[in-house]
Amino acid sequence: MTAPRVSFEFFPPKSLEASFRLWDTVRMLAPLKPDFVSVTYGAGGTTRQLTHEAVTTIGREFDLNVAAHLTCVDASRAETLEIARGYAAAGVNQIVALRGDPPKGQGAFRPHADGFANVLELIAALKETGDFTVRVGAYPERHPEAADDGADVAWLKRKFEAGADQAITQFFFEAETFLRFRDKADKAGIDASRILPGIIPIENWQGIRRFALATGASVPAWLDEAFAKAQRDGREDLLATALCTEMCDTLLGEGVPALHFYTLNRASLTRDVCYALGVTPAVALQHVA
Ligand code: FAD
Repeated sequence: MTAPRVSFEFFPPKSLEASFRLWDTVRMLAPLKPDFVSVTYGAGGTTRQLTHEAVTTIGREFDLNVAAHLTCVDASRAETLEIARGYAAAGVNQIVALRGDPPKGQGAFRPHADGFANVLELIAALKETGDFTVRVGAYPERHPEAADDGADVAWLKRKFEAGADQAITQFFFEAETFLRFRDKADKAGIDASRILPGIIPIENWQGIRRFALATGASVPAWLDEAFAKAQRDGREDLLATALCTEMCDTLLGEGVPALHFYTLNRASLTRDVCYALGVTPAVALQHVA
């Protein structure tokens, strides 16, 4: 089997220590030659400047395609497009466009008075500039705001119709979850090869578990048991690497061409899984001789 294409998500650092961790992570994963890497945008637009700095620094210092996440939260259309124009001026022409969530405790999403009402409007406006490749979010398990079981696929279809180039899914714990969603998307007339599965290597089970429940992802009971046992034996990393590799292997066996890793700014598990899947550093011959 040929090695799959991969991409990596990072979040912007909020402290000096976190900056060092991000740069170490990028440095360790860059040699795997990802298709692209992306940098998130804090809930409620809270990391506007930090995201911009991380994106432009990665673009400048590493030979990587960088995508900036951008949401519709708490900004007018003009402000949001100004941020996008700033990216284009810095040579960054990839955006992950999201409606976004408001900051914690502020209830449901309410559009800014002069802002984009939903992500379809943001996608269309970005595509109209002609400057950007636009990726969007997709939800293999029901998003908390989905009206019914078919709503996420129907809405994803509209995102592609609005001009999205590719979608990245929320993470999930069983390959079947993604494959079922891919089938539904295919039946709805979506080109399913444009949907990248979002993969989360489980560095800290309790933390990821909480995160999963908040996003509406289902948590299989067998994973609780497996991590409880692994924790007793001090083998959580080994279990996490094996489970993640096995799930990715199943997805690739089912014809999924590329994988998107949520790295949480930690390199080792993602790197180990990539190595196990045959994604290894591209070593230039002159460095070997
Ligand atoms: P949408 O897909 O627009 O909405 C989610 C679901 O709600 C839809 O699938 C649909 O079922 C329903 N829905 C919403 N609006 C309508 C409508 N008008 N009509 C009918 N149904 C509707 N959040 C951040 O704050 N910063 C980030 O950097 C970030 N990165 C992310 C990256 C990825 C790959 C993913 C999957 C999520 C990310 N998120 C991020 C989380 C995201 O902001 C939340 O999940 C948010 O609630 C939905 O944003 P969206 O653009 O995916 O929404």
